[in-house]
Amino acid sequence: MEAKAKVENLETITSLCKRRGFIFLSSEIYGGLGSCYDYGPLGVEVKRNVKEAWWRSTVQARANVVGLDASIIMHPKVWEASGHIAGFNDPLIECEHCALRVRADKLDEAPMKCPKNKEGHKFGEPRMFNLMFKTNLGPIEDAANTVYLRPETAQGIFVNFNNVTDSTRVKLPFGIAQQGKSFRNEITTRRFTFRTSEFEQMEMEFFCRPEEVKEWYDYWRKERLQWFVDLGVAPERLRLRDHDEDELAHYSTACADIEYLFPFGWSELEGIACRGCYDLSKHAEHSGKKMEWLDQSTNERFIPHVVEPALGTDRAILVFLTDAYTEEKIDGNPRTVMKFHPKIAPTKVAVFPLLRKDGHPEKAMELFNSLKEHYMATYDESGNIGRRYRRQDEAGTPVCLTIDHQTFEDGTITLRDRDTLEQRRIELSQVREELFKVLGF
Ligand code: ATP
Repeated sequence: MEAKAKVENLETITSLCKRRGFIFLSSEIYGGLGSCYDYGPLGVEVKRNVKEAWWRSTVQARANVVGLDASIIMHPKVWEASGHIAGFNDPLIECEHCALRVRADKLDEAPMKCPKNKEGHKFGEPRMFNLMFKTNLGPIEDAANTVYLRPETAQGIFVNFNNVTDSTRVKLPFGIAQQGKSFRNEITTRRFTFRTSEFEQMEMEFFCRPEEVKEWYDYWRKERLQWFVDLGVAPERLRLRDHDEDELAHYSTACADIEYLFPFGWSELEGIACRGCYDLSKHAEHSGKKMEWLDQSTNERFIPHVVEPALGTDRAILVFLTDAYTEEKIDGNPRTVMKFHPKIAPTKVAVFPLLRKDGHPEKAMELFNSLKEHYMATYDESGNIGRRYRRQDEAGTPVCLTIDHQTFEDGTITLRDRDTLEQRRIELSQVREELFKVLGF
């Protein structure tokens, strides 16, 4: 059966995001700023969770990957060496299939077709190139102190290759991972947070011997796809698409995109690229510094090759939001529920007093205070219990706990499961064990 997008219209997600405080348009009271967004109280928790899940699985859970946090503004020579400065400064359109770029003002017919004229080749929206934001370091605006906001986090890793190998005990093969903001002067604005001017990336450069590239490329393709599945994204809405030969950068031997079936169709979520030894070689050439690996057992010196999984944090968040969004009927009544994986859910547990009297709020507050030490928890006493459940469903909270009359009689509370809707009584004294069973932590 052919896979279907989880929601038909992206607008469904945008409006939920605004209504529930996941994502807002930047500077909205001034009419918004195209292609920039702010994460609200729930969104910022999702973002922290996504970054934490990636960091744990990529860095902390491995013996051969270390982390880095490089500055956003780097020496302009970095971008000369990487080839980012030698771009165009015109609005360009890019073939969505083969990445062929053509000046937008040179084409006048619509719909515009890629000159390769093959099935699936079509141009996207016009984009400015060079995409890098320029600014000046220091008080004087002068060409001599022009610097750029980084358009990718990867170069911060390459330029620190010697620092990391000199200061740690890493041994080939090993990875250096980084999360952080990147900036591209993008034109396209219509796909919510899919493509923005300011965004975050989570990238890793995995260095290895040239002859081992294929093996590590296969390994990271599988690992990265599985990461999304383990965090609850439906496998039928994920796929790996290998780049055709004519899509590859000249230094790249292989590249694949993990694509997700967004409401607007299959699109890139993450790229996994074999970049050869291009970046280290270029930085060695431009800086005059050796960027090599010395194999101490053989005294052999060589420039390692690299496999790069590169993911946009905001694009990943858009996938987690879209894939979690569920509309269903419960006893004939509609409910909207965000079925996030517990690790991604912004709030893990909500605590309610059934009544706003008879000691219920005090007891519930006591429980909330004990839980918030360990989990992102929330307390809610407003409105009837059904409304409170619905509010938590839209926020994607996996567990709701309610204090009621019986709590004072036998020390039990109600645990309500977001997905099964089952409500069962548990011992108040067993609440951490019960939460562990549902959440897994
Ligand atoms: P695209 O073809 O969508 O422009 P890209 O191939 O240029 O992406 P990379 O340079 O490989 O992207 O960046 C790695 C990842 O960073 C992408 O897979 C995507 O998840 C994310 N990313 C890139 N550009 C943006 C952007 N403008 N807004 C949000 N995320 C982005």
